[in-house]
Amino acid sequence: MAKILAIANQKGGVGKTTTTVNLAASLAAHGQRVLLVDLDPQGNATMGSGVDKHKLSASVYHVLLGIRTLAAARVRSEAGKFDVLPSNRDLAGAEVELVDMENREARLRFQLHGVADEYDFILVDCPPTLNLLTLNGLCAARAVMIPMQCEYYALEGLSDLVNTIRRVRSSLNSELEIEGLLRTMFDLRSTLAQQVSAQLQQHFGDKVYKTVIPRNVRLAEAPSYGVPVLLHDKNSKGALAYLALATELLGKSAATQGENDGKTE
Ligand code: ADP
Ligand code: MG
Repeated sequence: MAKILAIANQKGGVGKTTTTVNLAASLAAHGQRVLLVDLDPQGNATMGSGVDKHKLSASVYHVLLGIRTLAAARVRSEAGKFDVLPSNRDLAGAEVELVDMENREARLRFQLHGVADEYDFILVDCPPTLNLLTLNGLCAARAVMIPMQCEYYALEGLSDLVNTIRRVRSSLNSELEIEGLLRTMFDLRSTLAQQVSAQLQQHFGDKVYKTVIPRNVRLAEAPSYGVPVLLHDKNSKGALAYLALATELLGKSAATQGENDGKTE
């Protein structure tokens, strides 16, 4: 049964999409079976995985509305060695159409459960808002990974997200937890980044991943070639950081699995 992670933060430009694509590729490089779900109408994760969002016969939009099955809409990222449930501008209209539908927040969850046995990880790239699409991501997920930049207002923005996660937990998905907070675009020389990082660790303790993603130009370049950074420059600091994140995540998953096994015995 796949571990389903929503990559979410209502702030734009914090590295959600970069993290989703490169973590997917890094987990695949570790031999994991991965499905990436692009829940952002911008379709950046789709393009960054090497899938042309302008040439889709079906997308996550059709799956959410129940027009196509997930099995029919998913495509393979040859560059990343993972599957993609792609997205494009069609999805922008989905919110309006979903509003009147039954189980409008649980539609993705329902669809993902049908394929969960085929994967080890399902990573859901959420849009930069706390809208119905993001709620679908949070409702489907077992846990949330929160990428964030260590800037002055970073912590303030986090409280909205943490409150949303709480609300989702009490109404729609009682299992949902914070998987971890990921420091992205980190600049080791910045005193402010160090201070915010220290505050973050004070508030969230070991929920903050040990792995830090540095600011690295290779990560910003890779999407223009439609490949994860592993294919663009596998020795770059960005590539090594996402491989390390995958290793950290796998360590955590194994530990959690162990705890669960313990419970059932
Ligand atoms: P989000 O999905 O949260 O909006 P993105 O992943 O699209 O954020 O990142 C925003 C921009 O920053 C993109 O142009 C991306 O290439 C760039 N970027 C993301 N992470 C890094 C990094 N670690 N180093 C350098 N550039 C980055
Ligand atoms: Mg994005």
